[in-house]
Amino acid sequence: MGINILIVDDSSVMRTMILKTLRMSGLSLGDVYGASNGVEGLEILSRQWTDLVILDINMPVMNGEDMMIRMKENPETRDIPVIIISTEGSKTRIEGLVKMGATFIRKPFTPEIIRDAINQRLSTGDNHG
Ligand SMILES: [Mg+2]
Repeated sequence: MGINILIVDDSSVMRTMILKTLRMSGLSLGDVYGASNGVEGLEILSRQWTDLVILDINMPVMNGEDMMIRMKENPETRDIPVIIISTEGSKTRIEGLVKMGATFIRKPFTPEIIRDAINQRLSTGDNHG
């Protein structure tokens, strides 16, 4: 069975690039959903079974930190692994997200980097951070 992934990024170009990279990664993909901010992302999580979230930090309406906080508050979503892909340079922001359990990948990224991060998050069973 393929991996269901939600990509949350306010840039449609970036969402497409991440999707292309996922397709090149050799991972077995299930359904891949896209959202342009945290509110849309949470809405999709509430109705679609999702194995993993790829999350941007800087977004309008609701940013990546607030979305991840909401995910952690909800028993239905708190164990879904989160991978942050960002150019964000703020160590404090990144550390806060990693403390909540996210894996951080800096842009630019390769299919291998994404594949390894996803395999690591889905194989260890340690989704609580
Ligand atoms: Mg952004």
